[in-house]
Amino acid sequence: MARASRQQDGASDSTVVSIAIALCVCAAGCAGGIVAGPDGRVGPAADATDAGGLPPADGGEEPDPCLDGGPCEEPEPIDIDAGEEPDVDAGPVADADAATMPDPDAATPRDSGAPADSGAVVRPTPTCANVNQRLRDDFGIIIRPGTLPFSGLPSEDIGCADRIKVYQMFIRPFQYERFGPRVDPSVPFTMHLYRTGTGSTASCSAYVPNANAIQIRDLSDCLRVVSGPSDPDFNRIAMFLIHETGHIIRARTPSLGTSFQNARLAAQDPACYDRGFIVTYSLRTTNPISESMAEAIGLFVVNRKVGRYGTISNFRTECPHTYAWVRTNIFGNLL
Ligand SMILES: [Zn+2]
Repeated sequence: MARASRQQDGASDSTVVSIAIALCVCAAGCAGGIVAGPDGRVGPAADATDAGGLPPADGGEEPDPCLDGGPCEEPEPIDIDAGEEPDVDAGPVADADAATMPDPDAATPRDSGAPADSGAVVRPTPTCANVNQRLRDDFGIIIRPGTLPFSGLPSEDIGCADRIKVYQMFIRPFQYERFGPRVDPSVPFTMHLYRTGTGSTASCSAYVPNANAIQIRDLSDCLRVVSGPSDPDFNRIAMFLIHETGHIIRARTPSLGTSFQNARLAAQDPACYDRGFIVTYSLRTTNPISESMAEAIGLFVVNRKVGRYGTISNFRTECPHTYAWVRTNIFGNLL
């Protein structure tokens, strides 16, 4: 608690923080069952971009690349973090399986939170009475109606049941020894929530304006379709949120972006990249370093993501160099 007010920019390393702003927008597409049209998204911006469109099949929807236009601009000339993007990918893939789980074998991911085996840290599921405190104390996450201007969108809020889902989505990444320190829960970051009013498609998108904030559109719509950790959409939405958190990590430690770039992973795992972007990431017009790093962080946890833009069914084995980089620099070993 008290920490809430803590430093404003968590960016520990400040330097670049200011630069690092505007990372990206990502979206999680629609949900499974629904299938409506190829792009159900009704959103305001259904513009073209749709990044790539999502895989029609899943009905998804997709967020458009710059969804509502707004945030999309990149503040900086620099490339590094400028972009933002909505990701299309995520969503579309509501594949039934894909999202769901990490393959058993795949070492990485542990699927449901509970690591029975290795004695990893097992955190009890919070209740409505303590979920806010647990999100803050365990993960450094504050969820509230948006208070930062965001394309004129009205804010929205989510109830405790949805907050518990968010908590559950972060259990797995925080079971790794370095993830917590990278995020640094002692300096909370806030998920500012907004509603686009586009309807009930299970799609959401986000934008990271600085090291302490993720502005999320329609999170309630995305969480509505997730019944719990075993729901096929659970990993899809979890990946979306972890991807965004990857931008927070990078904004707080800019040198990680440089390191990722210098590792030239696209050359080492050519099948996993397209024009510098990890294939599962839907857009190709934003910042490849920023997005690929965030996407890799999400893939490390989920291990498998399928979508029109590329299919990676086993991140650990298909993108070994990128996996190793993420493991070494962001996650470390399981606790
Ligand atoms: Zn992103």
